[in-house]
Amino acid sequence: MPELPEVETVARDLRRLVVGATILGAAGDWPRAIASHASMAAFADGLVGRRIEAVGRRAKLVVVDLSGDAALTIHLKMTGQLFVVPAGAPSDRHVHLALALDDGRELRFRDIRKFGRVGLWPRDPLSGAVLDAEAGGELFAGHGPEPLEEAFTLRAFRERLRRRRGRLKPLLLDQAFIAGIGNIYADEALWRARLHPLRRVASLRPSDEASLYREFRAVLAEAIERRGSSIDDYTAPDGDGAMQERLVVYQRAGAPCVRCGRPIRRIVVGQRATHFCSWCQRLPAADRAGAAAPLATGRPPRGRGRRWVELPGDGVLGRTPGESARAEAQARTQRTRTAAATRRAAARAGLEAPVPTHAEAPTDAEAPVTAPASVPAPERR
Ligand SMILES: [Zn+2]
Repeated sequence: MPELPEVETVARDLRRLVVGATILGAAGDWPRAIASHASMAAFADGLVGRRIEAVGRRAKLVVVDLSGDAALTIHLKMTGQLFVVPAGAPSDRHVHLALALDDGRELRFRDIRKFGRVGLWPRDPLSGAVLDAEAGGELFAGHGPEPLEEAFTLRAFRERLRRRRGRLKPLLLDQAFIAGIGNIYADEALWRARLHPLRRVASLRPSDEASLYREFRAVLAEAIERRGSSIDDYTAPDGDGAMQERLVVYQRAGAPCVRCGRPIRRIVVGQRATHFCSWCQRLPAADRAGAAAPLATGRPPRGRGRRWVELPGDGVLGRTPGESARAEAQARTQRTRTAAATRRAAARAGLEAPVPTHAEAPTDAEAPVTAPASVPAPERR
């Protein structure tokens, strides 16, 4: 699921592609995706004639500022994708919303699992805040601070942290605590900070707090620079991200920890898969009470033997049945990732490339998008 860096990448790509365009119309076939209006028609009516003034992000939502003090929010959720294509370009059944732009292009929202949500909201003319008129307040009132904003200092983080109880992994995922962090970057940040996901907030030393603050900001910033992690269905209007190559624990159960060589473990915390190195990320004895159940979800195979062994690669020692199972799981993950990459490429090709003839595969899956005269075409990666 796209997190802060992925949504930030989508927003930056869109900004280059659509700012300055005016929305001529909207059409969709999935009214449940509309969070703000009872019907697709009412939502479309509200959009027509508005000019796109800016594109930004708040938490995990793309926020499109529109003329007339309005904002369009897009929550990609599990499988949402945004593409800007010439009107009339081939579509597929997963495109559930298309906004026609005055320059002959369309902004399309494609969403295989249909968990994504869009909304059209008023904006406060003075503060620019997105308002939820029905709920009578700001749309993002329930969200915590933006972790990369300058105002979010170590001191501000400490103050928030010390008001909370509980364990680190669920806390980092709590959008009311900090906005935008999800499963991928929570696991990566905790590994970088050498903190166990089940570590209690109360047991953190000041130096632990500082390294946690430093590491989740560093991993988020690095991920933005690499255009996010293209795992599963995530892609951005200008193409896939590359951060998935840099992830060291997320979905790498069984693979050797790049710091100590011991296998990465996977446990389930609050129904979320959690990846960590039990050697680099020690759980203090005081924090073990109550942690037995989640830890048991990732317990290595029963029986005596080495605590860990080499995984395939240089100096292979052979595999225990448990290791074989883990290697198979890893190969499966790799196959899933490859399949997802193929799906993303196919989606892109289907939406942007001419329809192939004579069962010929499209030769250029990254067919260029025609940019309007007023907006310079973005450089391809
Ligand atoms: Zn390690």
